[in-house]
Amino acid sequence: MEKIPVARPVLGEEEAAAARRAILSGWVVQGPEVAAFEEEFARTVHAPLAVAVSSGTAALHLALVALGVGPGDEVITVSHSFIATANVVCYVGAEPVFVDVELETGNLDPGRLEGVVTPRTRAILAVHQLGMPCDLARILAFAGAHGLAVLEDAACALGSEIRLDGRFEPVGRPHGVLAAFSFHPRKIITTGDGGMITGSDPELMARLAQLRTHSMSLSTIERDRAGQVVFEEYREVGYNYRLSDIQGAVGREQLKRLPEMVAARRRLAARYLTALEGHPLLILPREPAYARSNWQSFWVVLSAACPLSQRQVMEALAARGIQSRRGVMCSHREPAYRDRPPREPLPVSEYLQDRGIILPLYPAMTEPQVDRVAAALREIVKD
Ligand SMILES: *Cc1c(COP(=O)(O)O)cnc(C)c1O
Repeated sequence: MEKIPVARPVLGEEEAAAARRAILSGWVVQGPEVAAFEEEFARTVHAPLAVAVSSGTAALHLALVALGVGPGDEVITVSHSFIATANVVCYVGAEPVFVDVELETGNLDPGRLEGVVTPRTRAILAVHQLGMPCDLARILAFAGAHGLAVLEDAACALGSEIRLDGRFEPVGRPHGVLAAFSFHPRKIITTGDGGMITGSDPELMARLAQLRTHSMSLSTIERDRAGQVVFEEYREVGYNYRLSDIQGAVGREQLKRLPEMVAARRRLAARYLTALEGHPLLILPREPAYARSNWQSFWVVLSAACPLSQRQVMEALAARGIQSRRGVMCSHREPAYRDRPPREPLPVSEYLQDRGIILPLYPAMTEPQVDRVAAALREIVKD
């Protein structure tokens, strides 16, 4: 029986040739390939500027540093996310304040913001979970009214679109102050590890570009092109969050595949939705009118009436050669967050972690494979 993995990146001869080109050029870290990748990425998401970094986590961390978030500040975000979202708030010494999410999108419930905002709140870290755009119109309106910065965790959301002011635009334009993307193999495009920050304020973006390389006043390219002896200085305590040129070259090839990969994901997700529609024991993900997901993941949630546990369903799928993952984790339930209990209960976040199941979805997946997974699920969870 052919096994169906939960995810699989698309990497081919083009990426291998690009890596070879960078290696043989002799310039292997943050050079011309990274610069070109940044330009092409910015164009893709309609952002004025982009700064490449070594991971999505580094992108979020640097963004918080550049926004001036620090000790004594509170950042409103979701617990229901990969732990990196909460961790970066801790890195800068601020306090993550968790709010619950909506059942059908897995995203921050804007109706809960009013209940947790305090005079110490500095920013909202808004996640587009699993590629599903969150309700930025309401989040931005709330942030505007309270003088808060909005940072978008778009780790999974490259290629997703959101409707604001009546028309659809790419996620990460950005609509908040900054947006952070990830190029981990589990995301939409991959460079191994890697990340990108998009923004529109030239000063802020220049500061991010320096912070990623120890706040050195001259980039290696600038020093190389100066044509004379110049000495750099280090203006603040920065980081080594550089992306390699080998990765930059691979990222450029991955970007070329993006339209086709997102189209394939959308076609397969639509097929899942049709195949599983109306199942009385399954809650399906829902694209709100303002959102066009890239379907980085497709998931189902077992309803309260379903007699089977998440584990039972996942094991039955595995017995049929179908890999799956549990719903998105909740950071507040991990030992690392034992000393930071949430201020309010997060029942929907916990429900999605305990009853959600992520099903296989990747660009090279075939329609018969989607049909096989949907049929297996209907056979296991009998209606
Ligand atoms: C993957 C992910 C991150 C972290 O990205 P890395 O590149 O793995 O560091 C952050 N937030 C979310 C929502 C993610 O899914």
